[in-house]
Amino acid sequence: MGSVVKSTNKEVNGSVAVKNPTVVFVLGGPGSGKGTQCANIVEHFGYTHLSAGDLLRAEIKSGSENGTMIQNMIKEGKIVPSEVTIKLLQRAMQENGNDKFLIDGFPRNEENRAAFEEVTKIEPAFVLFFDCPEEEMERRLLSRNQGREDDNIETIRKRFKVFLESSLPVIEHYTAREKVRKIDAGRPVEEVFESVKALFTPKDEKAD
Ligand code: UDP
Ligand code: MG
Repeated sequence: MGSVVKSTNKEVNGSVAVKNPTVVFVLGGPGSGKGTQCANIVEHFGYTHLSAGDLLRAEIKSGSENGTMIQNMIKEGKIVPSEVTIKLLQRAMQENGNDKFLIDGFPRNEENRAAFEEVTKIEPAFVLFFDCPEEEMERRLLSRNQGREDDNIETIRKRFKVFLESSLPVIEHYTAREKVRKIDAGRPVEEVFESVKALFTPKDEKAD
């Protein structure tokens, strides 16, 4: 009885540790190179990389009560309920304390997008969209050998379908708001990063 509401609960339900952090959403189909390019951006531009998929996989490993549900959804290429993913992202931002984040692989549908905005009050600075042909993504996923349960042809096909049906509308939402920076991601890693770099380099630092 007489439960005490801790003042820190405010943070859990609402704002993150650093007020108004810069957030860039990194989107693109499975195998489009989001994780690889995020690692490059971190190295050159001081962002913190938060992969929604990695956070969900860590949650499974931690033995949390949601673990089995998350695992089943990932195996089927389905989108985990927003509240689960958003909590993990919020916690990661709070614990980190940096003021700029790459959020990789989220939001994956319109509901994810609206819920994140509603809960965190964060609007992305822009959306990095890795546009890659499906044959190339399939080739990469089947050859990357990361031991992931969802990198088999059956699940890959489901993930492609979910991407087209649910994730592309998110990109359309931000395209209408002129927030999407589209990159041709079917090229070699170094070439793609040249295009990425140009987007993160402040205009007055660019040689002209
Ligand atoms: N996933 C999810 N919500 C997210 C991010 C990932 O439900 O916000 C699940 C979904 O089942 C997806 C899987 O995690 O198919 C793998 O996502 P990840 O981003 O790691 O893979 P990628 O699409 O980049 O290959
Ligand atoms: Mg990834």
